[in-house]
Amino acid sequence: MNVEKPGGRLFGSGKCSGLPGARQLPMIQKMVESMSQLQEEKGRLQEQLMALQKKLALRENDQQAVSTQLQAQVENLKEKLIGQVQEVNRLRSELGGTDLEKHRDLLMVENERLRQDMKRCEAELQELRARPPPCPDCEHSKESAQLREKLAQLQVETEEHKGRLAELGLEVQQKTNRLAEVELRLKDSLAEKAEEEERLSRRLRDSQETIATLKAQPQPVKYIIKTVEVDSSKTKQALCETQARNQYLQEQVGMQRQVLKEMEQQLQNSQQTTAQLKAQIMMYESELERAHGQMLEEMQTMEEDKNRAIEEAFARAQVEMKAVHENLAGVRTNLLTLQPALRTLTNDYNGLKRQVRDFPLLLQEALRSARAEIGQAIEEVNTTNRELLRKYRRELQLRKKCHNELVRLKGNIRVIGRVRPITKEDGDGPEASNAVTFDSDDDAVIHLLHKGKPVSFELDKVFPPHATQQDVFQEVQALITSCIDGYNVCIFAYGQTGAGKTYTMEGTIENPGINQRALRLLFSEVQEKASDWEYAITVSVAEIYNEALRDLLGKEPQEKLEIKLCPDGSGQLYVPGLTEFKVQSVEDINRVFEFGHTNRTTEYTNLNEHSSRSHALLIITVRGTDYSTGLRTTGKLNLVDLAGSERVGKSGAEGSRLREAQYINKSLSALGDVISALRSRQGHVPFRNSKLTYLLQDSLSGDSKTLMLVQVSPVEKNTSETLCSLKFAERVRSVELGPGSRRAELMSWSSQEHLEFEGGSVQTPSSTRSYSSSSSGAPISRSSSIRRKLQTSGKTKPVPV
Ligand code: ADP
Ligand code: MG
Repeated sequence: MNVEKPGGRLFGSGKCSGLPGARQLPMIQKMVESMSQLQEEKGRLQEQLMALQKKLALRENDQQAVSTQLQAQVENLKEKLIGQVQEVNRLRSELGGTDLEKHRDLLMVENERLRQDMKRCEAELQELRARPPPCPDCEHSKESAQLREKLAQLQVETEEHKGRLAELGLEVQQKTNRLAEVELRLKDSLAEKAEEEERLSRRLRDSQETIATLKAQPQPVKYIIKTVEVDSSKTKQALCETQARNQYLQEQVGMQRQVLKEMEQQLQNSQQTTAQLKAQIMMYESELERAHGQMLEEMQTMEEDKNRAIEEAFARAQVEMKAVHENLAGVRTNLLTLQPALRTLTNDYNGLKRQVRDFPLLLQEALRSARAEIGQAIEEVNTTNRELLRKYRRELQLRKKCHNELVRLKGNIRVIGRVRPITKEDGDGPEASNAVTFDSDDDAVIHLLHKGKPVSFELDKVFPPHATQQDVFQEVQALITSCIDGYNVCIFAYGQTGAGKTYTMEGTIENPGINQRALRLLFSEVQEKASDWEYAITVSVAEIYNEALRDLLGKEPQEKLEIKLCPDGSGQLYVPGLTEFKVQSVEDINRVFEFGHTNRTTEYTNLNEHSSRSHALLIITVRGTDYSTGLRTTGKLNLVDLAGSERVGKSGAEGSRLREAQYINKSLSALGDVISALRSRQGHVPFRNSKLTYLLQDSLSGDSKTLMLVQVSPVEKNTSETLCSLKFAERVRSVELGPGSRRAELMSWSSQEHLEFEGGSVQTPSSTRSYSSSSSGAPISRSSSIRRKLQTSGKTKPVPV
């Protein structure tokens, strides 16, 4: 310490200058006493200050130590952080190294340790924060405040002393100046001390010295007070700095924590990546292991296979080798034996070679001769064929001619008789006895016992009572099928009422007649030809009553229809308004018949009676087209159930019954006339004489074929009617005479009918015969010849008049 001791000089100078008077001494003593008191007081204060300074120094040291320690820790943490960052980077770059797991464990341990360090630091910081600040509430501050108060009191007292001292003179003034100088110096030194804490102690010592010098004077007290004040503010500043530093350290710790967190996050990520990689590695390893295992197995199997194959091949090779050796030996022996055979073969081969060389020539030669032979044979065959063809054609023509001749001979108009069986309706007694017999040798002859006299007739065929519907149909079916070929056909059922006309034509449900059977046959025939022809079958049902034509399939059956000439000038007839039903099956036919029957039933109360008085017509039209040639054909089949032929006029009927009889008689006569005219090939055929013949004109003329089915009753009581019917039949059939006799025949027909109805006289067969015999150059009819035969044989007798 280089501080001067002003007090020394002060007291020294006082002693040197000497006091002004004796009365000033007690005052000085008092002053000295107070000074000493002040000195004591100052000493005490000095001690207190010292203690405070020590405490402060200690606290600062503590804080410094803590700060240094924290700094060191932070430094340490930083280093570790850098190390970890480097480690993480390294791990990242390596990614998937085999030591990853180890590193991870290490890092986890390190992380845990750092966490604990962090916790400890935080705790310490917390503790530091919890510590009360060194000022202003601390005990020392209070003490210093008290001290300040005391100092203030002391200052007041010092001021008083100053006032007293002012009175003391210049010496005191000098001392005061000196004190001021010291004060300034102290101020400077305190300012310096504010920058460094170490200098504080020195200044305190200076202060102590100054206080020591001021023991005798009040000036130093003031200086000390100020020093204390300065010291106190310095302490505050130091505390503030420390706090700021603490704050800074806390921030740094916070930042470190943040960094730590990030690192933890990174670590976690790297852990996840590591786990994934590990899983992948495990998978790959297992896959590798499996593949390796498989490979080993396959290799082993292959090795085994290889060994086995080698062994087998070796064994086989050995066997084959052996066989080859054996073969070789055999071949060698064979070779020796084959050499002569080879020589023979070579010779043969050469021979064959020659033959082959010559073969084409031989072949050509053979072919030439064969061709010639074949040509000749073909020529022969052709000639034969031509001859055969010629013969065949000639044969065909002959056949056709024969057929035509046969048809001509048979005639286009045929008459067949049918005798019905005796029924219950015929009653009992002699009247119901049988009057009809047949010729066992000739099925065309019928004998009738009329009024005790036998009369014989010859028709084309006669069906006895036991003949079935099928038998009858068998006879007519050729006619029906000719309708498919485009011919017009008429089948009439003629006879007295109850003779079986309807039965023959319609039949019963169980036993159908010609109508049903004809249509069935047409269907089956048409179907057979379906591959070449297309057919359409239509049906009309009509009746002629009292010369009026009615459509039984029409909506108005009462309406009378007219027969007209076709307006196209073809001369064809047609009935405007006549219904035509197209039928395709048997069911259709049944429906048509039923419909026609219903119409007829509703129209007439007594159908049986009515039907016997009218002609019932079933007109079937068959239209065909040949697929290949386009040829069209139209055939008409007319199935007519004629009205009863009984001689009503004879029974004396009157009124409408008589009119009916006249109409029937007229139409049946007209039919007979037309057939006669046709059969005798007359130039004029009186078709227009009745509705029936006019309607059937197309189907009766030209190439048309007609069948007259004459129905007769077998019983005694009907013999007169039976006789008439059979006469009618025979006449129709026998009119096949030369042109000269035709007219006469026709005339005799009409007159005979007339005579028969009017006078009951019957034309004898002999008269017929005389006509036929009178004709010059005309063929003699078959019936005449047969009759002659019958007469000579005595089987028949001339019918009596
Ligand atoms: P028509 O039509 O000529 O008046 P029907 O056909 O009605 O006569 O016949 C009169 C009766 O005679 C009917 O009961 C019928 O069944 C019967 N009949 C006719 N011909 C035969 C036959 N060939 N076989 C059995 N019964 C018949
Ligand atoms: Mg009838």
